[in-house]
Amino acid sequence: MTDTFDPRTHTARPDELAGRVIAITGASDGLGRAVALACAQHGAAVVLVGRSEKKLEAVHAAIAAAGGPEAAIGVLDLERSLAGDYDRLAAAIDERYGRLDGLLHNAGLLGPLSPIEHYDVPTWCRVLHVNVTAAFALTQVLLPLLKRSADASVVFTSSSVGRRGRAYWGAYAVSKFALEGLSQVLADELEGTSAIRVNTLNPGPARTAMRRQAYPAEDVATVPLPAALTGPYIALLGPASRGVTGGAFNAQLSAGGSASADASGASSSRSSPDSSSRA
Ligand code: NDP
Repeated sequence: MTDTFDPRTHTARPDELAGRVIAITGASDGLGRAVALACAQHGAAVVLVGRSEKKLEAVHAAIAAAGGPEAAIGVLDLERSLAGDYDRLAAAIDERYGRLDGLLHNAGLLGPLSPIEHYDVPTWCRVLHVNVTAAFALTQVLLPLLKRSADASVVFTSSSVGRRGRAYWGAYAVSKFALEGLSQVLADELEGTSAIRVNTLNPGPARTAMRRQAYPAEDVATVPLPAALTGPYIALLGPASRGVTGGAFNAQLSAGGSASADASGASSSRSSPDSSSRA
């Protein structure tokens, strides 16, 4: 199943996520915001997780304006939050919904592009903390709720530089490699013992603040808008990917244009990233 599944080829039904509760980190902006809107549009109750309450409220309002199920807001600064903050978020989701069907780890910090030789050590720790340790801690605290779902999906957001290292991408690239590892370990632990599947998704280039930071001179018109990339997220978060676990997927076609050329699903063919899409 993981061998043949390709989230890029799935067309979601309008009500595909109806009845599901899906938490998304970094839901305030960029890809996370677009995926949150798309999940709600397909019927999910979305838990918007982020550090800016004001920005999350704007996404909450946009979902309401589009007629989606009422969203919830969970304010969590992944750089500064302590154990009690994570516990409080889990307790609030438990109280409101009693379970969780989807968890998208999307929040991320790029950090500077710098050679390893000169990479600032405190910044290295910050990037690793936000991108990896916080995702681990949030997953851990939400696992009891995910276990209560009949069909739960955890998705970690990867990157091309998390599948093949590239000069100057420093802590960001290393953090994405770590997420691939975390995803594989967790998938292996949960396979056969729970209804939770675990996969990674590399969105490829998307027109967001992070992309602008990485490529300030790029013609933005050549980069797809986040809203155009939400289909593969819905495929991985929803019923289309039932039974698919331990995979590493791409949201966009490779430079070669083949839908399956870089669809690295199973452990045997896990890492063949799109070398044209970096951040
Ligand atoms: P953006 O910079 O547009 O959005 C990043 C999100 O992460 C924002 O919602 C931001 O919140 C949130 N965030 C950052 N730091 C924290 C924190 N300390 N606590 C809570 N939330 C935080 O980036 P993208 O949408 O481009 O990136 C989304 C994901 O996709 C990332 O994991 C990125 O690595 C990955 N990716 C992106 C690519 C691209 O081309 N855009 C390519 C490959 C991977 P706030 O709004 O408050 O700043």
